[in-house]
Amino acid sequence: VELVAATAPKITVIGTGYLGATHAVCMAALGYQVLGVDVDADKISRLTSGEVPFFEPGLPELLIKALDSGRLRFTTSFQEVADFGDIHFVCVGTPQRAGSFAADVSYVDAAVTELAGHLRRRALVVGKSTVPVGTAARLAELIRTVAPAGGSVELAWNPEFLREGFAIDDTMRPDRLVFGVSSPWAEQRLREVFAPVIGQGSPVMVTDPQTAELVKVAANSFLATKISYINAMAEVCEAIGADVHDLALALGLDERIGSRFLRPGLGFGGGCLPKDIRAFMHRAEELGVGQAVAFLREVDGINQRRRARTVDLVRELAGGDLRGVRVAALGAAFKPDSDDIRDAPALDVASSLHQLGARVRVFDPVALDNARRAYPALEYGQSTFDVATGADVVVLLTEWSQFREIDPAALRTVVARRRIVDGRHALDPAHWRAAGWEYRALGRP
Ligand code: NAD
Repeated sequence: VELVAATAPKITVIGTGYLGATHAVCMAALGYQVLGVDVDADKISRLTSGEVPFFEPGLPELLIKALDSGRLRFTTSFQEVADFGDIHFVCVGTPQRAGSFAADVSYVDAAVTELAGHLRRRALVVGKSTVPVGTAARLAELIRTVAPAGGSVELAWNPEFLREGFAIDDTMRPDRLVFGVSSPWAEQRLREVFAPVIGQGSPVMVTDPQTAELVKVAANSFLATKISYINAMAEVCEAIGADVHDLALALGLDERIGSRFLRPGLGFGGGCLPKDIRAFMHRAEELGVGQAVAFLREVDGINQRRRARTVDLVRELAGGDLRGVRVAALGAAFKPDSDDIRDAPALDVASSLHQLGARVRVFDPVALDNARRAYPALEYGQSTFDVATGADVVVLLTEWSQFREIDPAALRTVVARRRIVDGRHALDPAHWRAAGWEYRALGRP
């Protein structure tokens, strides 16, 4: 990628978690001068010393390069950030509020208030976090009243669609860039800063800030619906002995439907889809259009039932009682190629099995440290074969490629009983059955 001109805008990134750290590193890789800020001083010192505090393929190498180039720095000072930046990207978290479906926007409010209080020069503040529609308008007003540079600071919304595990590629070559702007100046600044990405062929969609905010939650709601749709079909298949795996393949061949996000199994989790659809329901109700997205409650319900049904399947395979049953749980992360365990279906299932009396041992290629911290009552092992040794039931909960490649003939030599629940439809049943395993998956005979 070509280095950006010396007159290029200086960039700051506020909140350096999964999204912010990736964005900061990628912007520096594109040639910009970048300053990242976070309230978590430990995170800032780790990033400064070249350590990515989470698992993301390729990011550690790119972070070191960016630090060595002198283009990327980190700080905990908002004063420094306000003085440095022409464009400020807001990437702080918006988790589900405890005891409610609503998004907790207090981190966004705090970050923007803190930044605005120091803004003494013309700047563009760009929200990237996923927020309830209407947040941008509220923040624009807040900036106008709080910022010393007042009227010369503008707010835009540029929702982020990156996927953990593909974060760098998704940042450098996104399917689309959405610019929610209130002026030609803001659009021009965003076009300028994303010029290297646009040059690689990513289409730009320019709209107003509220539509931009909505694009993100609407996209996540659609994806969640697609997953729950096929999982609802799995429930029907189970009732009649049909095979949802074949059904999904046949549906996916229809170009209007498409095969992606149509894989049946344990369902979705993570720090985005579950909380985003809930926040959307909450926000729609506030706006008086709750009915319009009431179907998302079903989408959420179908998804939650998958977890309970997976627990049932393990219990059935174990003979109806989980007490004292040794279970090897393969996977902890909410999806492969990530160490993110936020609302992870795998750990939800593992912990339910544990609560029902099973002796659960969990293995995950990268998420073990996070899992241990969040679920200290579970047992953990160092490899697939380690946790499977002596197991009465093996249950695949996250479809890491190394689990797909397990040799059933080799694994059968260490388990106590050859029984496997494939929670992700990741294995070939014929292959496993031929090796003497009792194979079960939701929605398959
Ligand atoms: P995260 O929890 O990994 O990171 C959030 C960071 O913000 C943390 O490091 C936290 O310390 C920091 N922070 C909190 N308050 C702050 C403040 N006042 N000032 C500065 N920093 C502050 O979360 P994430 O996964 O990076 O998600 C961030 C946002 O991006 C969310 O709205 C999320 O929905 C959205 N998003 C995430 C992804 C993803 O794959 N992770 C993808 C698209 C969109």
